[in-house]
Amino acid sequence: MSNPVEIWKASKHGFDVWADVQRYAAAGTAMKDIDQADLERMKWYGFFYRKRDAPGRYMNRIRVTAGELTAAQAKAVAHLAYEFGHGVIDVTTRANLQVQGLDIRHLPKVSERLQRVGLTSKQTGHDNIRNVFGHPFSGLMPGELIDTRQLCHDITAIFLDSREYSDLPRKMNICLNGTPHHSAHFWTQDISFLATRTPQGEAAFHLLIAGTQGQTPHLARRLPVFVRLEQTVEVTRALLDLFRAKGLREKRNAARFCFLVDDIGPEGVLAWLDERLPFRLERSTEQPSPASAYDELIGWFHQREGQLWTMGLNAPLGRLSWRQLEGLAILSAKWGDGRLRTTHEQGIAVVNIPAQFKNAAAIDAAALGLSVHADSFDRNSMACTGSQFCNIAVTETKGHMFQLLEKLRKKKVQLEGIRIHMSGCPSSCAQHFTADIGLKGVRVRRLVGTREGFDVFLGGGIGGQIEMGRPYRLGVDVDQLPNVIEEVVADYYLHHRPGETFSAYWRERLPADEGVKTADGDYRPPIWVCENCQHRHVGIDPPVFCPGCAGLRRFFARLDEESGASPSGPASKAQTHARSDGFVYATEDDALKADAGLEVEVNGKPIALFRVNGQVYAVDAACPHEGAPLAQGTVENGVVTCPWHGWTFNACTGCSLEPANQNLARYEALAEDGKIFIKVETTPKTPAGKPPAVLDKPRHAAPAVAALPLIEVIEETPDVRTFRFDNSAGRITLDYPGKFVSLCVEIEGQENWRNFTVSSSPERGGQLDLTIKLNPEGTVSRHLFAHARRGAEFTLRGPQGGFYFDPERHWEPLLLVSAGSGITPMMSILRSLKDRGLELPCAFAYGARTAADIVFHQECSRLAAASPWLSYHASLSQPEVNWRGACGRLSVDRLQALAGDLAPRQCFLCGPNDFMDSLREGLLLAGVAAERIHAEQFQAAKPARA
Ligand code: SF4
Repeated sequence: MSNPVEIWKASKHGFDVWADVQRYAAAGTAMKDIDQADLERMKWYGFFYRKRDAPGRYMNRIRVTAGELTAAQAKAVAHLAYEFGHGVIDVTTRANLQVQGLDIRHLPKVSERLQRVGLTSKQTGHDNIRNVFGHPFSGLMPGELIDTRQLCHDITAIFLDSREYSDLPRKMNICLNGTPHHSAHFWTQDISFLATRTPQGEAAFHLLIAGTQGQTPHLARRLPVFVRLEQTVEVTRALLDLFRAKGLREKRNAARFCFLVDDIGPEGVLAWLDERLPFRLERSTEQPSPASAYDELIGWFHQREGQLWTMGLNAPLGRLSWRQLEGLAILSAKWGDGRLRTTHEQGIAVVNIPAQFKNAAAIDAAALGLSVHADSFDRNSMACTGSQFCNIAVTETKGHMFQLLEKLRKKKVQLEGIRIHMSGCPSSCAQHFTADIGLKGVRVRRLVGTREGFDVFLGGGIGGQIEMGRPYRLGVDVDQLPNVIEEVVADYYLHHRPGETFSAYWRERLPADEGVKTADGDYRPPIWVCENCQHRHVGIDPPVFCPGCAGLRRFFARLDEESGASPSGPASKAQTHARSDGFVYATEDDALKADAGLEVEVNGKPIALFRVNGQVYAVDAACPHEGAPLAQGTVENGVVTCPWHGWTFNACTGCSLEPANQNLARYEALAEDGKIFIKVETTPKTPAGKPPAVLDKPRHAAPAVAALPLIEVIEETPDVRTFRFDNSAGRITLDYPGKFVSLCVEIEGQENWRNFTVSSSPERGGQLDLTIKLNPEGTVSRHLFAHARRGAEFTLRGPQGGFYFDPERHWEPLLLVSAGSGITPMMSILRSLKDRGLELPCAFAYGARTAADIVFHQECSRLAAASPWLSYHASLSQPEVNWRGACGRLSVDRLQALAGDLAPRQCFLCGPNDFMDSLREGLLLAGVAAERIHAEQFQAAKPARA
């Protein structure tokens, strides 16, 4: 059992943390002093540590089974938020309530207060079964086949407070829908019961299993059976038993129920049910009716009994203030019977309102700032918690979504039912894969450093049949979202066929599985206007002084409605569509000069174009040696020379000339009507969750030569120092962690170039750190240690090198191994993982001679203590007597003991050559594929090109 989560789960059950929680609460223990595993175990009680919510606050997720909430319960939650939290409550996409901002001292009290009103937050996180919900208006709607509320409670009773069912391999989602129409949400659950009628006319359920959103989105699969109402609880229990008994626990990223079903197939699940259940499920060949539409949950809904109405309210993006929730509790008791419903679309409803009180209830709701009317923006948008509170978020969400909707309103974009969902990371809590327009938070590289951005998916949800969205544009800067959405909506209205939905329209036009990566050129910076002289400036920020009137920066106002045009930006998106003959627009013909290269990106693939004897030729953009951009190489007589290491290729055919057998792929190119088109074969589809068999070379930043001032010298160990350079102007773009730069030191009028790996993270591009070990015989390091002072300027060239970590290619668990000063690229990788919020399982083993020689020991220890995904292991070859850690040279056996099976890992090695040679050999013997072993190799320093 190598999975560290299973190890700490086995050492102490989540339920057993409560005594510790009470102890921490009594002592007011700071979050940083609480054992990480205990912080995780608190999720068994519904308390989630929030490291971003300083200084160490907790979120409480409250289970609202079947969405049923009483006025007393709503009031109690509102008061908890007011007394102990930030005063805000979020309704989630599982109809839970979340209270943010709790202090450790208040957790026992919160739990007790919930219990008093019949609520619980138990088992709402980690490897537990999450809130069981049905249609929010179940039991009230005319035409409903099955009232699912009691079944939701009965299923919850199976696992609540049960030790057996609170230790699953991963979380599990269950829902029941008693209506004949099933919206998208009900198709992405681990277990989903969808009401239908058997051929005999009896109400029963279809059984769908193994749906999921998140990292490996899957629609649920139907089991060919009918489940009768009285069988539902036992069928659920048997499925939970199956997951407990056979779910994969070795790897977290393959532990969800869907992987088990992939493994044994629906037939295997059916065989298990047949064996375990005391009754045989009736077989059915009937398919569930396709998902019809999103549930309409805002407005007035006539209930099936008496003259009673449900008032569905718009809670924008699911956020309520404590006053609003308290007000709703009062309102529900005053005009209804004190009952409310939370909805899986982040909304809330008051039920059982007599017809004569409808107006009065709506007026009271309006006084609380809540409306039964919502425009198409509020009605069709959803956003998860995001980086305001969520530990693993990559971006903020609710704030961005509010701004996005405002900008779309100003632009008068007509959504008319087109849904936009925004998730702050791949976990997809806002279900971006099943929205018409799905937005997934990512960091995007932009000129200097990185900014928040989103991958845009189109075509999810309903479009004749339910499907997952397809990538449209990747890495769109958050500022550009309104433009991109305006364009895709306008494109749909202009060109769609009668009756064709937005999703169906885009699905047809996005056949490929890969979206177009947004490049720097696609970014349309905002326009600023000087209020003195009306001078217009296009840029991320206004200029320091106005070039028109020398006015100060503060006189510039941003024009929200406009942005600088970009020739290759989303506006020209239509040009990127494939022609019927398969050729795709690449660039304007006059952009490609004779005997010079031009790099373009087509369907996300970087391609180098060359014009030789008037003809256009297209080959791979990256040199197969270290990924250098060939378009920047010299072209003479049809031969292109790699700008980094001088490899040569035939620019027309892609054949390698020197060295041989390193051919580039060649693509058909066509010049027509002043435009260049290329035919690119799309990457074949691969099974979900598995990488493509062949990975393309990623695009690399061109090495730049820049003089950077030294801003700090940090003493790491007696003979290792970090030299920190000011790169705030972004003159050197570190694209991937692990790369090196060349540094020039002038000694006695002589230029001396040396290569040093960067130890800082690309995400903090404003500084460039070189961590250098003093070589007593080395000219350059001795000179730096003796003479380099703050303020001095040095010439650097980079980034360079073929040793780097790319999260899009290296998605498997990592093994980092380094010795001595070989830690520098590993530090850059670790810092980058942390800065990007990438919780990729990573084992880092570091060998040094003595404790004094360990570089970055404190930072690595702290990071490992705060990061469940990272294990850090320092081993000394000449330990002092008081050293308590591991001793001896790092060997493959030791690495196996530390990280378990090494075969599935991407291994990065950096250290002395003999150390790396023996490790590489051992890793190959341990079953690691050669292409997964990356070893740092410096090339001899070269003078920079002018
Ligand atoms: Fe957090 Fe990601 Fe879920 Fe959003 S989608 S709430 S960012 S885990």
